[in-house]
Amino acid sequence: MTFIDLRSDTVTQPSAAMRSAMASALVGDDGFGDDPTLNELEETFARIVGKEAALFVPSGVMANQIAVRVLTRPGDVIIAGAQQHVVSFEYGASARNSSVQFATVDDRGGVLRPADIADIIDAELDHQPHVSLVSIENSHMPSGGTPWSLAEIEAVVDAAQGRPVHLDGARLFNATVATGLDPAAVCAPVTTVMACLSKGLGAPIGSLLAGPADLMAAGRVERKRLGGTMRQVGVIAAPGLIALTQNVERLADDHRRARRLAEAVAARFPESNYDPASCRTNIVAFTHERAREIIAQWESAGLYGGTVAPRRARLVTHLGIGDDDIDRACDIIAQTK
Ligand SMILES: *Cc1c(COP(=O)(O)O)cnc(C)c1O
Repeated sequence: MTFIDLRSDTVTQPSAAMRSAMASALVGDDGFGDDPTLNELEETFARIVGKEAALFVPSGVMANQIAVRVLTRPGDVIIAGAQQHVVSFEYGASARNSSVQFATVDDRGGVLRPADIADIIDAELDHQPHVSLVSIENSHMPSGGTPWSLAEIEAVVDAAQGRPVHLDGARLFNATVATGLDPAAVCAPVTTVMACLSKGLGAPIGSLLAGPADLMAAGRVERKRLGGTMRQVGVIAAPGLIALTQNVERLADDHRRARRLAEAVAARFPESNYDPASCRTNIVAFTHERAREIIAQWESAGLYGGTVAPRRARLVTHLGIGDDDIDRACDIIAQTK
């Protein structure tokens, strides 16, 4: 039986065009800044998100961790949504790497409320620790891939009162395709932005961090400290360039397919109060008492999903999934016992 793999948008296989680009990529030693393909990738990303410079890293976690390192001091506080990746899915990396703590706010709706941020900053006057950074996530994975509006981003940046804001845009392009916003416009209010090439864009490896040139120079040093400086990295930058320049518009197909799954979930599990209209990108996330058992049932029928928190099930569409896969997945969902 072939499985329909909706565990994550990280499970994609590189296309034939990506593999041949890898084979023929011009390369050099990136430790010396000599890799032309990598340099092109960093410049392309910086231009798309409207920042001065960019830094290629092996993973999204490393991009977030470098941002934390360059934008905080030990003992500082980062304000972030309680369910965000940098808080809940990096195994405590910010504490371990940068000796910072989080002040978390409610992000169940996908966005952060400016008043919650303002309160934590105001508490500095009440002998509470210095807030050095606000981190947001767009699209916001745990709420079901919620894309932010520009006004929501600007409101958070205003509430930060001049402090830097880092955007975890692992799925930035899902958000921009869903909203029709220009990536540079979305990133203009924030200080730094990270995006993953290895998720919906379908590259095998890699993420990018972008921001002001001085911060990215500091980030290069932190990348070295974390062991993230690589050598003939053009072999992985080449498929990354294809991902970034050719695989963005097609994310709309993933979104349309996720919405079909969302309708099937809502129809089969009315008790979860899941609103299929809340599925605006490529993630279906719903709450159900039997979430783990439902995922196990689906798996024995040939559909792979996952859970991201207790009672929280998730399905993610990506470029390896076609309409026929969605037909089958919807049948399996409808037949859940
Ligand atoms: C996947 C993800 C990351 C981390 O990316 P990796 O490449 O898996 O390290 C960070 N933030 C969000 C929102 C993610 O979904």
